[in-house]
Amino acid sequence: MGELITNEILKGESMLPEYFEFSLPVKLVYGPGIIGNVKESVAKFGKKRALLVTDAVLAQAGPVERVKDGFKGTDISIVSVFDDVPPNSTLKTVQACAARGKADKCDMIIAVGGGSVIDTAKVANLLMVKGGNIEDHMGAYLLDINDQLLPSIIIPTTAGTGSEVTKVAVIADPDNDVKLPFAEEQFLPQLAILDPELTISLPGKLTAATGMDALVHAIEAYVDKEWSPASDALALHAIKLISRNILGACANPQDIEARGAMLVGSFLAGVAFSHSMVGMVHGISHALGGVYHIPHGIANSLILPEVMAHNLESRLDRFADIAFTLGISFPEVVSDSRSIIDTGKLDIVSKLVKKTEMKSLQDVVESGSHAVRDFALRQLDHLAFVDQWIRRKAAEAGVEKIRTLNRQLAFLTGTPLNLKDAGITDGLAKLDQVADTAMEDGSMLYNPVEPRREDVVEIIKKAYNSTDKPLKVLEKDLKTAKKGKAADGVKNVFKNTEELYDVLAGFYELLKKDEELGPALAKTGLCVQFVYKNPSAVITVDATGKGVEIIQGDFDGKPEVTMTMDADFAHKFWHGKANLVSALTRRLVVAKGNVPKTLKLLPVLKPAYKLYPEYLREKGLSDIVM
Ligand code: NAD
Repeated sequence: MGELITNEILKGESMLPEYFEFSLPVKLVYGPGIIGNVKESVAKFGKKRALLVTDAVLAQAGPVERVKDGFKGTDISIVSVFDDVPPNSTLKTVQACAARGKADKCDMIIAVGGGSVIDTAKVANLLMVKGGNIEDHMGAYLLDINDQLLPSIIIPTTAGTGSEVTKVAVIADPDNDVKLPFAEEQFLPQLAILDPELTISLPGKLTAATGMDALVHAIEAYVDKEWSPASDALALHAIKLISRNILGACANPQDIEARGAMLVGSFLAGVAFSHSMVGMVHGISHALGGVYHIPHGIANSLILPEVMAHNLESRLDRFADIAFTLGISFPEVVSDSRSIIDTGKLDIVSKLVKKTEMKSLQDVVESGSHAVRDFALRQLDHLAFVDQWIRRKAAEAGVEKIRTLNRQLAFLTGTPLNLKDAGITDGLAKLDQVADTAMEDGSMLYNPVEPRREDVVEIIKKAYNSTDKPLKVLEKDLKTAKKGKAADGVKNVFKNTEELYDVLAGFYELLKKDEELGPALAKTGLCVQFVYKNPSAVITVDATGKGVEIIQGDFDGKPEVTMTMDADFAHKFWHGKANLVSALTRRLVVAKGNVPKTLKLLPVLKPAYKLYPEYLREKGLSDIVM
């Protein structure tokens, strides 16, 4: 082994590939409950007749209703709903969907669902615009760069495929037992809306399977032949978000933080893999989906550890990075030797030197000069194999971590742990067909190791025969679960304008009289007007004169700053639970005038956050305290 461990290997691959591309023309908005607040984001589409594409489950489970509500009051009218998409959508479904959109004269598409729905919407869009047979459009990048499809909005309800940010669509051809890939730049939507609240209804088993699909995207993107620095960065962060939150999302479906992390992880993984492609895991999973109809995420999760083990040696450093991101800790002894020395951890060197009993050398080392440091570094180079050994062990531990994750997910949600339990009931009689189909899959081209048919067969057999058992999940394995809705449940807190004036203007009067806050407010010399909506009201806080005046309704003067916001937002703000800066970015608050001056007031107002709930309680309004 010794001669293999050269400095070249330790330095790993070059830090940059010879060539890479990156583009993401999709505007994406994220936020728990954001579907109730899309007016600004969708304004640019203008007046449209939208076809909403979804499936029967989602039409019942709540997300579709929430989306319809969200689009009320916008210029986009949902004039047609196609909710017949099955899991692993088919060519026939796409045709029916396109026919519906054409019949109802739709000029835009909104997809609400998982990958099956999103991919159906993508290809149906193509068919609506280009016409002809679906078979005519099969392939990659057949459209001219100037060809336009109908504008589209994608709203994912699973955290899995990342299809909202990919240029591909996968549609099943059940007559031929295969899944067909379509790829076009124009499949990217103009807007993707990520609202984790829309994923809460996703059952545990599907949360696990779709989440593992996203994890596979990130891992394959990171080790593939077509790597690029942009997808590397996205892939590693996706691995972190998904691996640390998937158990939490399955154990506590309402944990909005975990759901959000999964959705964002899935999006990042989607961008990563659409820039560096997927590999052998997907090649085999597509074949298992086509021949045995194994759900995509389940096939991916079972094949993943086997393919990782198979590819390990070819990308040892990268698999060690993945292990580290998955939470495996290991010392970086030699490859990081310069930092060991630079950070003064020379005692390791000294100990090594002591062992060699080279007294004079030891003295020099302890003197700590630059020459010595360089010398010590060169000595450490001889220990390179230790580093390589540690990284290999770490990479192997990463594979074990994935097996453990699968077992924990099986415990939490009942996902299968081998292909037999996943639905192969014929004793793997079609193994040859699966292997042949996999070998023809485009994903295989990007695998870091050239796939050989016999290896594919071996991997499928291992995943079929696995005897892994579910593993109990301990509390420490779960991130602290945050139950309940992140939007903090405030909705129409003030029944009418009168009540709003009573509560908010009353509160400003209290601030004015407060020993600390009153003088601080007066000192600002500012005149700030708050324009509230739902219900409507105007309150002006005028500190331009001698004291502070609180004026309800019409105001004769000229406020220096006007802030327009929902009354619910103000209620949340005075609880200290709203982020004004982010609300300004999202235009939940529209500010006119010298805004930075007002923002400087925020620290002055901090004590008011404590006063507001106390004030509400004293007024007998405990029920609206957040
Ligand atoms: P899916 O869309 O097939 O949905 C699986 C099931 O979950 C369906 O029954 C659906 O009704 C249900 N569901 C979805 N969201 C729900 C919610 N919020 N609440 C309750 N039920 C919900 O699953 P998927 O894994 O998202 O998509 C799989 C498809 O995507 C496959 O066809 C796969 O090949 C394809 N895919 C596409 C890409 C791409 O980039 N285009 C990438 C990976 C996979």
